[in-house]
Amino acid sequence: MVKRSIVWFKTDLRLHDNKTLVKAIAQSDGIIPVYCFDDTHYKTTNFGFKKTGCYRAQFILEAVCNLKDNLQKLNSDLLVLHGNPEVELSKIVKEFNVKTVFAQEEITNEEKLTQNKVEKELFNLDCSLQTYQTNTLYQFDNLPFNPENAPDVFTNFRKAVEKDCIIGDMFEAPKQIKSPKLPLTILPDLNALQLESTNTDVRSAFPFKGGETEALDRLSNYFYNTKSILTYKETRNGMVGDSYSTKFSAWLALGCISAKKIIAELKVFEEKHEANTSTYWLFFELLWRDYFKLMMVKHGNRFFLRDGISGLIKAAKPLNKFALKKWIDGKTGNDFIDANMIELKKTGFMSNRGRQNVASYFCNDLNLDWRYGAAYFEEQLIDYDVCSNWGNWAYLAGVGNDPRSNRYFNIEKQASVYDPNATFRKLWLTKK
Ligand SMILES: Cc1cc2nc3c(=O)[nH]c(=O)nc-3n(C[C@H](O)[C@H](O)[C@H](O)COP(=O)(O)OP(=O)(O)OC[C@H]3O[C@@H](n4cnc5c(N)ncnc54)[C@H](O)[C@@H]3O)c2cc1C
Repeated sequence: MVKRSIVWFKTDLRLHDNKTLVKAIAQSDGIIPVYCFDDTHYKTTNFGFKKTGCYRAQFILEAVCNLKDNLQKLNSDLLVLHGNPEVELSKIVKEFNVKTVFAQEEITNEEKLTQNKVEKELFNLDCSLQTYQTNTLYQFDNLPFNPENAPDVFTNFRKAVEKDCIIGDMFEAPKQIKSPKLPLTILPDLNALQLESTNTDVRSAFPFKGGETEALDRLSNYFYNTKSILTYKETRNGMVGDSYSTKFSAWLALGCISAKKIIAELKVFEEKHEANTSTYWLFFELLWRDYFKLMMVKHGNRFFLRDGISGLIKAAKPLNKFALKKWIDGKTGNDFIDANMIELKKTGFMSNRGRQNVASYFCNDLNLDWRYGAAYFEEQLIDYDVCSNWGNWAYLAGVGNDPRSNRYFNIEKQASVYDPNATFRKLWLTKK
């Protein structure tokens, strides 16, 4: 009997270094690649914001389209579904008599709930679900501690992994894929996802475009064409233009590139050209990404509570909707905050320096419930990643992993250090 499997792509929209795909091909006579636009990802959350806004949705559409093209080049295709994954995947399982669905393992609660629902439906169809951890540098089961005992301070985590862990080998992209004849499916547009399209602002720091092909181009450009990687540590706190930081985040969030691929390429670059503190610093920053994922495994849903993982009990106050709206619209009256918030609203991106400042301002100056800020970021960011977003917000709100209880940013001082000539502020506050 022919053994057919589904590869369910989620936030691993790539062919390179995709363990799920490689395992599925090895264990099956034919595979059916599938992506499902999950209805719940396009709903409004309890905080009143869309779970996915138009910038990220556009990026996902581009990434899925590119994956479909790349699969077609290998004689396969991508079935694009729209609805609830447990319902839509079950239909394909029945139609093609699928025995196993291969997918990326989830860490966070909502995603795990969906995974569990799918697994339950598959079980009723005599089909199993096999999952793999594919979106971190380090495999969590190879760390020198269990996630439950992982250090709560980043530096302790970093020192432990640097001393005791190795990054596993990459999984090569398949050269050929055997698939049954698949029905023609087409991608939804933004309207079908209940979103309106917007034109990206010409002032955007970077013209993000979804897909593995674009991600690999950016990698090669940042490392080899411009060699910007050699000055990353000095420039990474910048705010204007495409080269102050890598801009890898959106591709990493959707899995168009793997963190392991970036590090493997970094090693090649270091051998061919030069290794310096900047090349090391990219690895350092990618460790933060792993760390917030690990912390989410350790603390689970506590990251979404007002008191976070801190155990501190903060008095709940009614939400000042007026102040929230002014922050969102970039009308607080603080030019540095406003410029950053306008950039986010008009492009779906903000620099790391900007994010730290607007989050600190939200929590400490406006004294608002940090979760509304995090939820607005969730809607708006192209590179939204549940662990990095909620982990960083909780950190800045003083209810996360920061060993310092109150990380207050003096906004005036930050503006004078990081935007000394007001270039960034002029760019975003001048009416267009
Ligand atoms: C309040 C707040 C919310 C954030 N929300 C997100 C989010 O939803 N998604 C996201 O990817 N990053 C988030 N970050 C982290 C960081 O701001 C972005 O990763 C970075 O600005 C993206 O630009 P880049 O790829 O050019 O970064 P670079 O400086 O080039 O960094 C390289 C990579 O390292 C990782 N990285 C860097 N800094 C961090 C960090 N503090 N935490 C976790 N990973 C990091 C990212 O994967 C990034 O792509 C947030 C930070 C703050 C302060």
